[in-house]
Amino acid sequence: MSEVHTKHPSKPLTPHPQNRTADVIVVGGGIVGKACALGLAQQGFQTIEIAPDLGQTIPSPQGNQWGQRIYAFSPSTQKLLAHLQIWDAIDHDRLQTVRDMRIYGDRGGKEDCLHLSAFEAGTPQLAWIGESNLIEHTIDQACRFQNKLERISDAVEKIDVDPEKTTLHLKNGGTLSAKLVIAADGANSPIRNELGISTTEESYSQSAVVANWTCTYPHLETAFQWFLPGGDIVAMLPLPGKQVSMVWSTSPEHAADLLKLTQAQWLDQFTSIANGAIPKQLGELTLNSTPAAFPLRKIRAQRFIGPKASPRVALIGDAAHVMHPLAGQGLNLGLRDVAVLLNTLSKREPFRQPNDLVLLRRYERQRQGDTSALLWVTDKLKKLFSATSNTERQLRNWGLGLVNKSHFIKQHLIERALGEIDFE
Ligand SMILES: Cc1cc2nc3c(=O)[nH]c(=O)nc-3n(C[C@H](O)[C@H](O)[C@H](O)COP(=O)(O)OP(=O)(O)OC[C@H]3O[C@@H](n4cnc5c(N)ncnc54)[C@H](O)[C@@H]3O)c2cc1C
Repeated sequence: MSEVHTKHPSKPLTPHPQNRTADVIVVGGGIVGKACALGLAQQGFQTIEIAPDLGQTIPSPQGNQWGQRIYAFSPSTQKLLAHLQIWDAIDHDRLQTVRDMRIYGDRGGKEDCLHLSAFEAGTPQLAWIGESNLIEHTIDQACRFQNKLERISDAVEKIDVDPEKTTLHLKNGGTLSAKLVIAADGANSPIRNELGISTTEESYSQSAVVANWTCTYPHLETAFQWFLPGGDIVAMLPLPGKQVSMVWSTSPEHAADLLKLTQAQWLDQFTSIANGAIPKQLGELTLNSTPAAFPLRKIRAQRFIGPKASPRVALIGDAAHVMHPLAGQGLNLGLRDVAVLLNTLSKREPFRQPNDLVLLRRYERQRQGDTSALLWVTDKLKKLFSATSNTERQLRNWGLGLVNKSHFIKQHLIERALGEIDFE
């Protein structure tokens, strides 16, 4: 594994920030916030990143223990990470390329399978699967060595916006102010709420149970997904070696039951769903992580920039949109926000300040289409596969088979999943 090299020593967190100013402040210390702060600092903006969890060390994943949070990374994410000089510093032995995706209707049979193939689409891979920590650790390392980036471990409690600057009031006292504030503060975004940006929200009444498994058959670099009767969705994503990462979306009650299963009971569960397709495909499965459950919902902010009275704020990541994980796109979409924001700022006319309303509107316009399309597709797929009538079940299974026969539709689906971004 290569390291992130730098000639500057690693910087400690700023201990007591009293009334500091910067060009840009990024609120949030998730992958989206970190990537954005790093990219802004690399562009030469004096940047402050603030989040309560920034003081935590993110250990690099090691050995046979695989992290609980596993993500599918799209080619657009790879492109952004390469642009930030992160991609080559990641331990690629812990990343699994995905060359095929097989999506089954609730009969689990070949006749209602949608097969997306990198080979047919003329692309080297459809995605990569890896641990959240793997990416976050590497970005974190790069941030620590970035001279233009100051990091503060604290929470924002209040925001004041005037025409010249935005001021953030911190939990531990003190203020931070900047021309532009980027809210990457997650699904419950306090900044979004403080600014009164409304959202459309919907609970899916589902939780996603995640766990990693060792399998006896090779996964063939394939991501599998089964839509089950009643609305459950089981995805098995390939990991390096004979391992897979499961995401099982189900009712909160069933999720609570799944968390209590013994190894033998899990095998019974797998045999009892989708006509036993999972063990037929992957062989015997042995649990190798502690299962965990996450509640699922859909959120879309009405605006991705501050309202008229306080426009010097941009929302990115889960602060702007949250979606069902069935397409594995939430983080990828958030990182596309970062890519577009960085692009918009780097291509700005020399006379424009980074908080120029024209730039913020350009950012918002570009992101709304991509976000709406992806939220719509995942939402409609989720609802279509939750329908329980026999007619609807037959129709959707037939539809999967039909889409599978259309090269044009498949090519379009793959293009959407790859996610186009551009850097100059
Ligand atoms: C089961 C499951 C599977 C998923 N799988 C995939 C996948 O395969 N691929 C994919 O692309 N996406 C996936 N996602 C989606 C992905 O997890 C999220 O989209 C992503 O983690 C959002 O990152 P973020 O940085 O925007 O927000 P978060 O990671 O939530 O970070 C928010 C940050 O804001 C900080 N913060 C909060 N309040 C304050 C405050 N007052 N002041 C300062 N800081 C604050 C927090 O401390 C935190 O650091 C999945 C989601 C789930 C639930």
